[in-house]
Amino acid sequence: MADCLFCRIAAGEIPAKIAKRTADAIAFHDIDPKAPVHVLVMPTRHLAAVRDAAGADGEAMLGGLLQFAADVAGGEMVPGAPEPHISEDDEFGDVP
Ligand SMILES: [Zn+2]
Repeated sequence: MADCLFCRIAAGEIPAKIAKRTADAIAFHDIDPKAPVHVLVMPTRHLAAVRDAAGADGEAMLGGLLQFAADVAGGEMVPGAPEPHISEDDEFGDVP
């Protein structure tokens, strides 16, 4: 979606410090971190809110995102990161 900040980050149109990326998900450091390590995790396709991920496709995407967030939090990409949690704001799948 052209006017979506997060889609523009996923497309590389807006620079971000990428922690990890796959074809389906991206993790990047928050530009205004609220903790020493604050990484945002989101799908590479537009998703305005968690509640918009419906049906089997949405279930698969959310499951994949949680596994991706766990990999980021537990991996060497973000040493010392705590457990991931899902934000209900305009951010998706924070790992602060
Ligand atoms: Zn978007």
